[in-house]
Amino acid sequence: MAKRRIAVIPGDGIGPEITEAVLSILEHTGFEAEWVFLEAGLGAIKNGLPPMPQATIDAVQEIGVALKGPTTTPSGGGHSSANVALRKALDLFANVRPARTLPGVRTLYSERDIDLIIVRENTEDLYAGIEYQAHPDVAQAIKVITRPGCHRLVKYSFELAIRQGRHRVTAVHKANIMKLTDGMFLEEFYKVAQDYPHLKADDIIVDNCCMQLVTRPEQFDVLVTENLYGDIVSDLCAGLVGGLGLAPGANIGENCAVFEAVHGSAPDIAGKGVANPTALLLSAVMMLRHLGFSAQADKIANSVQRVCADGHCTTIDLGGSASTKEFMDEVVAQAG
Ligand code: ATP
Repeated sequence: MAKRRIAVIPGDGIGPEITEAVLSILEHTGFEAEWVFLEAGLGAIKNGLPPMPQATIDAVQEIGVALKGPTTTPSGGGHSSANVALRKALDLFANVRPARTLPGVRTLYSERDIDLIIVRENTEDLYAGIEYQAHPDVAQAIKVITRPGCHRLVKYSFELAIRQGRHRVTAVHKANIMKLTDGMFLEEFYKVAQDYPHLKADDIIVDNCCMQLVTRPEQFDVLVTENLYGDIVSDLCAGLVGGLGLAPGANIGENCAVFEAVHGSAPDIAGKGVANPTALLLSAVMMLRHLGFSAQADKIANSVQRVCADGHCTTIDLGGSASTKEFMDEVVAQAG
């Protein structure tokens, strides 16, 4: 039988080293695929291409599933975001970011049982990229929220909650201030919720949500929110469970899915062989489940849990001294 084709975008900074580690773990634990390597980010720019080349977008669309390393986006000026371009071009409307306590990982919340999922809208909001200089001293950005965009995101969140045996879906918003945009999001949320009467549906204002996440994070189950709030709240949640090195993510569209870590390209540690590959590895686990390879997904997820619980092979971001390669070898060894 032909091997499953999977697009791979190694990306920038630590991207290539963590991608190599993750592919090696997948192969050593028995998952075989034809990896189709694609260019994006700084490498593409060096070759005179946009940060997300059309050829890469087309290939991901044709293959239908991709594992993606981080790509660098400069603040202020410079090139536009490769991530935003890919998400928009392929209409990857839902960004799914689980945050779960890992046994053995020491955090401020080690004793708490955190197990939540953030579903972030991925194509609208202030990320629509409509900014202009109205006056030399005044710059404006337009927040775009559409009813169909809210509808499909909220519906996806409730369906996800059912698939994963969850009980509660909470809308995160600021509809008290942004009455039209966030108001529409909230209205659509409660409309869709009527189709899921057995799930608890409620809402929370984003600032209160952040405070509650810090004081009582275990109360939350599935959080669904707009693009910008989701970006910020998901980094907060990554911090609750051990930091960016552990936070996986999936960008889901109707016909295509791209799996990538929440973190960026971490240029400060790139090339040193010390990056934690867990976030990308857990993104690959999400990809395996998406493709229906649950046994392989469980095998790797359980091995990561064992390595973390054991505590002998911990990367620098989590207070240890293990290199990317040492961690990778340990995950393979523990997977048996
Ligand atoms: P971006 O703008 O692309 O989001 P950023 O610089 O804001 O990038 P990250 O690249 O995610 O954010 O890095 C934030 C901090 O977390 C850095 O100090 C980085 O070294 C650290 N970090 C991020 N990912 C990892 C990882 N996988 N392993 C170890 N440290 C990491």
